[in-house]
Amino acid sequence: MASRKKSKEPLTRANGTMTESAYLAWIRSCLRAKSLRWPPRNTALELARRPYSGPNKRQKWEFQCAICLEWFKKDDVVVDHYPEEAGSILSVEDIGPFAERLYCEVGNLRVLCEFDHRVHTLQSSHGYSREEAILEIKVNDTMKDKKTTLALLQENGYNNCTNDEKRKVALREIFQKEK
Ligand SMILES: [Zn+2]
Repeated sequence: MASRKKSKEPLTRANGTMTESAYLAWIRSCLRAKSLRWPPRNTALELARRPYSGPNKRQKWEFQCAICLEWFKKDDVVVDHYPEEAGSILSVEDIGPFAERLYCEVGNLRVLCEFDHRVHTLQSSHGYSREEAILEIKVNDTMKDKKTTLALLQENGYNNCTNDEKRKVALREIFQKEK
């Protein structure tokens, strides 16, 4: 099933309207949506919080990132599955184990700031070191703004970057030199 192109995948589910991958994605997203209300998730947030005493009168708590140890408001943190990731659903057989990993106890949950969550996600998906992951994020974020990217390349003497791949390579070199 996994090796077939998406367009050729037969519509085997939901009265012949859904492919197997769409079906699995549906189930995954249902499980994920409800996981925001999973009680141990709130416990993880409670364990990472302290009363906020800064200038914002409407903010009651702040939350500590388990990696950088800085404090953030609730909207700027995520609850991460660690050390065991929730993983993915690639077949019907994965649904049970996935649900059990997703709905885990508080010992397998930690609070991260958005930045460290991005870094950690890149590290586990690509096998990058923390430094490499931070560099990739910097490159990808810069690439989103084409004007800035082109100006930066020009400033640093890169005049032959004719496509995104070449521009990425050049940005990596520039940022690595900056360190
Ligand atoms: Zn952090």
